Amino acid sequence: MDIDIFNRLESQVRSYVRDFPVVFARAQGSHMVDENGKRYLDFFSGAGTLNYGHNNPVFKKPLLAYLESDGIAHALDLATSAKKRFLEVFEQVVLAPRGLRYTLQFTGPTGTNAIEAAFKIARQVKRRPNIVAFTHSFHGVSAGALAATANQKFRSAAGTPLAHVTFMPYDGYLGAGIDTLDYLETCLNDPSSGLDRPAAVVVETVQGEGGVNEASAHWLRRLEALCRAQDMLLIVDDIQTGCGRTSEFFSFEASGIRPDIVTLSKSLSGFGLPMSLVLMRPDADIWQPGAHSGTFRGNNLAFVTAAAAAEHYWQDDRFSREIAARSATLRQTLTRIAAAYPDAGLSVRGRGMIVGLAARDTSLAARVSQCAFTEGVIIETSGARGEVLKFLPALTIDAEALEQGLAVIERSLAKVLDAGRREPAASSAVAHFAH
Ligand SMILES: *Cc1c(COP(=O)(O)O)cnc(C)c1O
Repeated sequence: MDIDIFNRLESQVRSYVRDFPVVFARAQGSHMVDENGKRYLDFFSGAGTLNYGHNNPVFKKPLLAYLESDGIAHALDLATSAKKRFLEVFEQVVLAPRGLRYTLQFTGPTGTNAIEAAFKIARQVKRRPNIVAFTHSFHGVSAGALAATANQKFRSAAGTPLAHVTFMPYDGYLGAGIDTLDYLETCLNDPSSGLDRPAAVVVETVQGEGGVNEASAHWLRRLEALCRAQDMLLIVDDIQTGCGRTSEFFSFEASGIRPDIVTLSKSLSGFGLPMSLVLMRPDADIWQPGAHSGTFRGNNLAFVTAAAAAEHYWQDDRFSREIAARSATLRQTLTRIAAAYPDAGLSVRGRGMIVGLAARDTSLAARVSQCAFTEGVIIETSGARGEVLKFLPALTIDAEALEQGLAVIERSLAKVLDAGRREPAASSAVAHFAH
């Protein structure tokens, strides 16, 4: 098989390659091509890293020009022209128009490192170790961030106790009609609740890995008010949902909340180049020089493409409106599909271009994903049991590709349901290698 060498040399830890076992060679926009020349439509976008599509020429051109001119490729955290340009553009295009005043910290290039930094900041500012995270949350897999990641698959790999995080029920966790913040608020006000007073609360406005669970604007505003009243910092992890995924640049804009700290990564560079950023309220910037270090703090190639992304897509609200229109198409089609297969118990969830199709049978999403892959569509599952098919197309996807991909998903769903009716035992035995 094509992927023999990966199976032979690469650690068992490899994950996505198990679900999509081909060798990818090239990509453009919403399409990828494998070594055999087969084309795939990408509804996964590197888990939300390729919001602007693969090899978007808007970024590729300035990146090639930068390399060609011997621009600085690596400089630790020295000042460079590329970094200066990014800071200028980010302030002008992203922060100022939203009335946001944040100090920027460039951490190591992974999302989890931004979370590590955010937690250190909160713990130092409040001089308390505990942090509240939510059920089904995902914040990364390095030790500090992993303590705030709910999924046992990741937690059990730590090999060490994961400390100083208390999990609270996310919005909707206890079913409709129950405001889960009642529990957090009651605990905070009760000296005998057993909850150690938290320094901060960390939240995803839509839980990406956790199953496309969406917190309502009302819940987020109440959470913000609780943080203010109880002297806790509010950290929004916008690593997957930021950079336009929910149609606004920051996923919290619609709710009107003002987080004390925001983490960004995945699509920040626009091009898939690793880069992470912590935004913090200026008075939370308690760092001593160099106290959170790292060789790759600030990726200069990513600065070039990130500046181009902000300039090209976020100067006005045109891109937001385009995303909202595509989102409407996506949701309408999925809502129709859910209604067309009542036996499957399907429901649609999410916001903007992070939309989930949840199924009653927890193995259904994985089987649809596998079937769609043979038909040339790449789509992943998420949720505690992989029960949610997660739609993360590029925000720039054209209407035709979106429609074609959705048609493949519907065909795959029909096929899987049909096979399930004929041989229910065999189909439920299909193994799914969750990532
Ligand atoms: C992906 C992700 C992270 C971790 O980012 P890595 O680059 O994988 O370390 C953290 N939080 C959220 C919400 C994510 O989606």
